[in-house]
Amino acid sequence: MSSLGVYIELKEGKVKKTNLELLTLVHQNGQSATAIMFADDAGGYVEELGAYGVEQIIQITGLEGPNSYPEVRSGQLAEIIKEQGLSDFIGTHSAHGKDLLPRVAARLGAPLATDCIGVDFEQGVATKPMYAGKVIAQVKLTGRHRLYTMRPNTITPEKAAAGTTPKIKTVAATAGTPLSQIKEIVKGVAGRIDLTEAQIIVSGGRGMKDKENFKLLEEMADCLGAAVGASRAVGQTGKTVNPVLYIACGISGAIQHFAGMKTSKVIVAINKDPEAPIFKKADFGIVGDLFKVLPVLTEELKKVMKGD
Ligand SMILES: Cc1cc2nc3c(=O)[nH]c(=O)nc-3n(C[C@H](O)[C@H](O)[C@H](O)COP(=O)(O)OP(=O)(O)OC[C@H]3O[C@@H](n4cnc5c(N)ncnc54)[C@H](O)[C@@H]3O)c2cc1C
Repeated sequence: MSSLGVYIELKEGKVKKTNLELLTLVHQNGQSATAIMFADDAGGYVEELGAYGVEQIIQITGLEGPNSYPEVRSGQLAEIIKEQGLSDFIGTHSAHGKDLLPRVAARLGAPLATDCIGVDFEQGVATKPMYAGKVIAQVKLTGRHRLYTMRPNTITPEKAAAGTTPKIKTVAATAGTPLSQIKEIVKGVAGRIDLTEAQIIVSGGRGMKDKENFKLLEEMADCLGAAVGASRAVGQTGKTVNPVLYIACGISGAIQHFAGMKTSKVIVAINKDPEAPIFKKADFGIVGDLFKVLPVLTEELKKVMKGD
């Protein structure tokens, strides 16, 4: 049986939902995990991580907070993976995970499968979309250590059948030299959800005409607790998203856009052109002028969300 490490990302002191997805994947594989996190006091996470079947928490102290310096963190993680003899190590395919795990893999000389939608840890086989989603590949990883990043929103978090009370092991970070310096962190729009992790996305294309008109999308997004996206921002060269619901407004459905949102569970399209390609891909379509449709739809959604 493989020995498994899961990288736990914290956001504002909370375990990210995407990490619970990773822990679910692990216990669904019939295995238990060592959770590895940069925290000075992981005591507050024991109950939550234990509910997802974590056996052990390794807290690396001295490197908590936003000044994460992946070049320093990667060295610490590589040492722990070696020292613990972890055969498999998985993190989220988030901005941070994409920065961190390739560095860890390089330090270990280990293979890394990125943007996975499934992993069989026993076989070391990762399932992942390739060539902008045109094929779904099964990639076999070999070697002493195997690393993976998992696409967010692929798995619904589920607690383990039997909860645990994980023990905490503390490892003090050894000094590393950051090669970069974070000068300033500029927060995104307050309260807005990260696109790649959002469950619902309301997205606008050139049909929105003007950035001012994105207010219409923001109003709907606020009502649904959604993130706001756009063509170009999502796609082959943009971000890959994987929400439960993707509402495309004034987006034609170009192949390059589709590549980044095709795994959305439900796609709704609003477009005035009944021949727009997006309708061939959408589960539900509204043919109409979005400037007329959106205000009405938002008002109706508000009523539904309020339970009127
Ligand atoms: C190498 C390469 C990489 C690319 N990467 C990406 C990428 O990552 N992501 C991406 O999105 N694109 C990408 N593109 C661009 C892509 O080919 C399309 O040009 C782009 O997706 C089109 O965006 P759109 O749907 O917003 O605009 P358009 O194709 O111009 O479509 C606008 C739509 O709005 C509708 N519309 C207009 N007015 C209204 C109205 N009042 N009410 C309702 N509907 C209305 C129109 O009917 C039309 O269907 C890439 C292109 C290349 C060449």
